[in-house]
Amino acid sequence: MGNKAVVIGSGVGGSGCAALLAGAGYDVTLLEGQSFAGGRCASLEKEGFHYDFGVHMFSRGDKGPLGEINRRTGGDLRWATHDWPCHIMGRMEFDFPLDITSLLRQFYLARKLGVKYKNYPGAFRLILNLMGGKAVEENDDVILQDYVSRFTDDEVIHLFVNCVSQLYFAQSYRQSSAGEFLWSFNRMFKGASFGYPLGAGGGIPGSYLRSTERMGGKALFEEEAVRIIVEGARATGVETNKGTYPADIVVSNAGMRNTVYLAGKDHFPEDYLAEAEGNSDSNAYVTIKYALERKVVPYPVVFYMPHVAPERVFDYIEKGEPPEEPYIFMPVPTNHDPSLAPEGRQLVIAGTAAPAGASDELCNAILDRVHAQVCEIFPDLESAMLWESRSTGADVRELTGHRAGECIGLSQVPGQVGRNRPGHATPVQGLYLVGADAGARGIGTEMAAGSALALADLLSP
Ligand SMILES: Cc1cc2nc3c(=O)[nH]c(=O)nc-3n(C[C@H](O)[C@H](O)[C@H](O)COP(=O)(O)OP(=O)(O)OC[C@H]3O[C@@H](n4cnc5c(N)ncnc54)[C@H](O)[C@@H]3O)c2cc1C
Repeated sequence: MGNKAVVIGSGVGGSGCAALLAGAGYDVTLLEGQSFAGGRCASLEKEGFHYDFGVHMFSRGDKGPLGEINRRTGGDLRWATHDWPCHIMGRMEFDFPLDITSLLRQFYLARKLGVKYKNYPGAFRLILNLMGGKAVEENDDVILQDYVSRFTDDEVIHLFVNCVSQLYFAQSYRQSSAGEFLWSFNRMFKGASFGYPLGAGGGIPGSYLRSTERMGGKALFEEEAVRIIVEGARATGVETNKGTYPADIVVSNAGMRNTVYLAGKDHFPEDYLAEAEGNSDSNAYVTIKYALERKVVPYPVVFYMPHVAPERVFDYIEKGEPPEEPYIFMPVPTNHDPSLAPEGRQLVIAGTAAPAGASDELCNAILDRVHAQVCEIFPDLESAMLWESRSTGADVRELTGHRAGECIGLSQVPGQVGRNRPGHATPVQGLYLVGADAGARGIGTEMAAGSALALADLLSP
């Protein structure tokens, strides 16, 4: 096999893989349909505010796969972390520590969450098991809610795990795979490096593309792949709106389903087509970016826990209606990197989950509830606001071509994680998948980065 690699897409998975393949000696050309890099992890600029297209925090920061790609490719990605990074508000109020490995901090957490004293033994056994991160595979097909119920019926523990499940996978613990949660929780809290990249989320793919170019590869923008050329059951190149790029291998960051469409369904066996069509997608995530003329929120990240029974917090997603009281994930990027806004100003991003495929009308109705709640907890926000900008599921669809506007990729439910996640290799020789849909575990961007690392290992001599 020759060494010409064409990568379709500059999401975290595509850009990370391009850098790793360039480092392994491949002659890499990356083709990105948009005029900017990063896909769901892109950052945009308006009036001196550099904000994420989505709403991001990075569970393992430099210590996870995102940092690993940077290290392997000699990149310039740098991180900000805080100990105590998160402020919990709503049903309970306290600061959440970065590192919960010590028993002392676990006691602090149980007390602040309001775990009933009689439920302490079960709660600690649960935390111990989650921190241990063992028995992942045997719990891949177990629903997370059932897993938690094996240890305790404590209401706030259920609410806490349900909200963390939403934070990790954008879905309720009534859907999530317990094995995937165990894997993610163990690594996040062992790593204790929950953080934010300097230069915003888009700094990650940006840095990977700089590494790609430094090692002789190139990234071309506004080059939308319209066809993966397949000759004799082998991928031999990519045709874009602008030209044709011959390749020895083609790596697609466009998602499993769209990759099949690009290569042509005729080249895939029935069972592969059925998997590509039948897999379920993650939920969407809707956001509001607040550009503020002064600092209003003093915390690095805020989590708002609603006063709703744990099993009902995310019912609104299944029902397709706005929540009575939303769970809110609210990072404050300028409290990590002040250079993301003009001096003295503050950038705040608030978001919550919405159903996959939700209409703009529903997404905006959900965001109206988010906005009302944010203004209630930070009454000064409205008067400090210079502008706000919203993103919905349709924006993700437009940005990435993913039909459901899914914020992560394929959903992390039993049957779609671990050994049941689609692999990198496809039935078409020389055609590989990379990104959140393929071959890895974990949380959003880190799953995409893990996918890039695994594929590069597979393809490296
Ligand atoms: C609102 C929101 C909040 C999120 N919060 C978090 C969080 O807090 N933490 C976290 O870790 N993750 C989070 N995620 C998830 C995370 O951003 C994604 O899982 C991850 O970025 C997906 O990366 P990917 O490699 O799969 O590529 P994608 O982001 O899907 O990028 C694919 C790229 O391919 C390009 N492309 C597609 N088709 C073509 C084509 N035909 N030709 C050329 N180019 C093409 C697209 O333009 C895009 O740039 C969030 C996502 C959203 C939307």
